Amino acid sequence: MTDIYNKMVEFSKNEILPHTKDVDALAQFPTSSFEAIKREKITGLVVPKEFGGMGLGLEEHTQTVLAFGSTCATTGLCYMMHNVATMCIVAYGTEQMKNEYLPKIAKGEIVLALAFSETGTGTHFYNPEISVTKENNSLVMNGRKSFVTSALYADFYLVLSNSAEAEGLDNWIIGKDFEGITFEETAWDGLGMRGNASMPMLFNKVEVSPANRVGPSGSGAEQVFNVVAPFFVIGLSAVYTGVALNACNTIIQYSMHRKYSDESALCNIPTVQNHIAEIFTKANSAKHYTLAAAKSGANGDADALAQIISARLNASDMAVEVCHKAMKIGGGTAYAKRITIERLLRDAYAAQVMAPSTDVLSIWLGKALTNQPIP
Ligand SMILES: Cc1cc2nc3c(=O)[nH]c(=O)nc-3n(C[C@H](O)[C@H](O)[C@H](O)COP(=O)(O)OP(=O)(O)OC[C@H]3O[C@@H](n4cnc5c(N)ncnc54)[C@H](O)[C@@H]3O)c2cc1C
Repeated sequence: MTDIYNKMVEFSKNEILPHTKDVDALAQFPTSSFEAIKREKITGLVVPKEFGGMGLGLEEHTQTVLAFGSTCATTGLCYMMHNVATMCIVAYGTEQMKNEYLPKIAKGEIVLALAFSETGTGTHFYNPEISVTKENNSLVMNGRKSFVTSALYADFYLVLSNSAEAEGLDNWIIGKDFEGITFEETAWDGLGMRGNASMPMLFNKVEVSPANRVGPSGSGAEQVFNVVAPFFVIGLSAVYTGVALNACNTIIQYSMHRKYSDESALCNIPTVQNHIAEIFTKANSAKHYTLAAAKSGANGDADALAQIISARLNASDMAVEVCHKAMKIGGGTAYAKRITIERLLRDAYAAQVMAPSTDVLSIWLGKALTNQPIP
C-alpha cells in the first residue's frame, strides 16, 4: 500500500479510534477526530499545492477515506463529503473563490459539507426543488434540505438548486452564519452512522450573490457528473469497504481468542473457518475493487465511472454480508454487543440508501453499459 494510506492508518489509530466508541454510543459528532484532521491539515488533501494544500487526487482521497472508514465509518463519511465539496471549488471555482476558500481549507480553518438531498426528490438529489429567485437586484434562496451531514459542525455547505439565471442547476457555497439559515435541530437518531449529525437545513429568504455560485450559471449538473459522481461514489465505496474490513479483522481476532472449556478456540471449528474464508474474500474484494476503480478514475479511463459505480455497489453489498456473517460467528457475544460487530452492521446498512441509492445506481450502471443516457 502507498505511504499516504499507511500514514492515514497510523493517524486513524491515534486520533480517530479513541473516539469511535463514544461517536456511536452517544451519537456524538467526531469533534475530537476532526480537530486532529484540521490540526494535521488533512482537510487540505485535495487542495492544490499552490493554495497551500497537499495537491492530491482521487486515489489518495479514496485511500484516506478507506483508512478513516476502517476505524470509524461516521468520521470517514463526514470527511469524504468535505473533500467532495472542496473538489467542486478546485474544479469549478473562480480564481477569486479559490483564493477565498482553498487556503483556509488547506490550513484546517474551515470544513465543508453537502446540502443536496430534499424530501420532495429523495435519493434523486440531482433534481432539487429549492428555489433561487431574482428579487429586485438580489438572488434569494428559499427551501429545505432534508439530510445534511456535519450540520452545525461544518462552516460552509454546498447547496444544489435550480438555476435562476440559466437552464439547469446551480451549485452554491453557503455559510452557516448567512442570514436566513437555520437547522431543524433534532438529534440524529439513525440506526447507524450515529455521529454524523445529519439534520434538515432551512433557507428562509437567504440572499446569495453570483460570488457564492460555484462555477458558471447552469453548471451544477456538470459538476454532479464530473466531480460529485467520482469523488462521492468512490468515497462511499471506501467508507463501507472500511466497515467490511473492520468487521472481518474484528471477528478473526475474536475467533482466535474465544476459548471453550477444553481449550479449543472458536476458529478451530471448520464451519467457522469456512465463514472466515468467505468474509475475508468479500472484504478484500471490496478493498481491491475500490482501489482499482479509484486508479481507473485517476487515470481517466473511458469506463472509469462504470468501474466506480460498480465498486460502490459491490462494497455496499459486501459490507452488509460481511457484518451479517460476522454476527453469526460472534454468537451471543456479538449479539449482546460485547464486541463491535453490531455497530458495524448498523453502519453498513447506510451504504445502500446513501444517494444515489444502490437501486438507482444499478439502473444507471445497466444503462451506461448498454449505451443508454443516465440518469
Ligand atoms: C447517514 C446518512 C447521511 C446522509 N447525509 C447526507 C448529506 O450530507 N447530504 C445530503 O444531501 N444527503 C444526505 N443523506 C441523504 C441520502 O443521500 C438520501 O438522499 C436519502 O437517504 C434518501 O432518503 P429517502 O427516504 O428520501 O429515500 P427515497 O427517495 O424515498 O427512496 C426510498 C427507496 O426507494 C428507492 N428508489 C427511489 N427511487 C427509485 C428509482 N427511481 N428506482 C429504483 N429505486 C428507487 C431507493 O433506492 C430507496 O431504497 C444522508 C443519508 C443518510 C442515511
